[in-house]
Amino acid sequence: MTMSYQFGLIGRKLGHTFSPAHFNTKFRQMGLDAEYHAIELPSLDELRDLPKRYPNLKGLNVTIPYKKDVVLYLDGMDETARATGAVNTIEIRPAGDWIGYNTDVTGFQVGLKALLGDEACPPALILGTGGAAAAVAYALRSFCSQRDYRFVSRTPAGPDVIGYDDVTADLLAQYRLIVNATPTGMFPDVDAMPPFPVHLLTPRHFVFDLIYNPAQTLLLQAAATQGARTENGHRMLIAQAEAAWAIWQVHIPA
Ligand code: NAP
Repeated sequence: MTMSYQFGLIGRKLGHTFSPAHFNTKFRQMGLDAEYHAIELPSLDELRDLPKRYPNLKGLNVTIPYKKDVVLYLDGMDETARATGAVNTIEIRPAGDWIGYNTDVTGFQVGLKALLGDEACPPALILGTGGAAAAVAYALRSFCSQRDYRFVSRTPAGPDVIGYDDVTADLLAQYRLIVNATPTGMFPDVDAMPPFPVHLLTPRHFVFDLIYNPAQTLLLQAAATQGARTENGHRMLIAQAEAAWAIWQVHIPA
């Protein structure tokens, strides 16, 4: 008897999450005997025991709050994961090694290209200092050679991590790409917005909100009202999932 290939998403609380429906639909359309599970883990200590529950496990996605801590449980990482210190995709190799990747980097590049079109990547302000912010910074460096970016944080720390109060019209004249890498405004807190001075945005600005639910956060609505060009996290979400599949599928016979 052949056993179906198994994949999963690990996180602490998964509720309504994108990946299981996305991958299970994809597997059905491909006619592939595979299943993708939402796996809630109270702690990462159980991670390496998962093959006991899922004996044909080939790959995992990782979400909140484990993207950073999971690196301690892996046998190796590629450059994106090492550079960002965060893993959202694990490849389980046939010999048993677990290798970490960060496909949020690829996902962000796809969304950024759609947002900027033919424009060169301008200096950027990245709201937040978590795993997604690190992936954005790495993508800016590697994808568009843009090293001029600053993080904007509720707890500023020096010239590279400024506070929301430090965002002035003068600064925004130079930093024309704004990336929201905070969860502020995400469902169900749809009435929330990062404390960013949106009234200073102009039609010269690009605003990329990594949030995909709702499709238009309060931040994106306000930015669009100011005439800025906007992108939500949907394209990034699809692209990071496709990049994860590209890693896993090499272990699935054609
Ligand atoms: P995280 O670690 O929970 O938070 C990121 C940062 O947001 C924190 O470091 C914090 O920075 C800031 N922050 C947290 N709460 C805040 C608040 N109430 N007000 C203002 N700032 C706040 O999240 P993450 O894993 O980096 O993800 C960030 C967002 O990106 C999430 O909404 C996630 O869903 C989204 N995301 C989307 C995709 C996609 O494919 N579209 C992929 C990855 C992530 P400071 O403490 O420095 O202010």
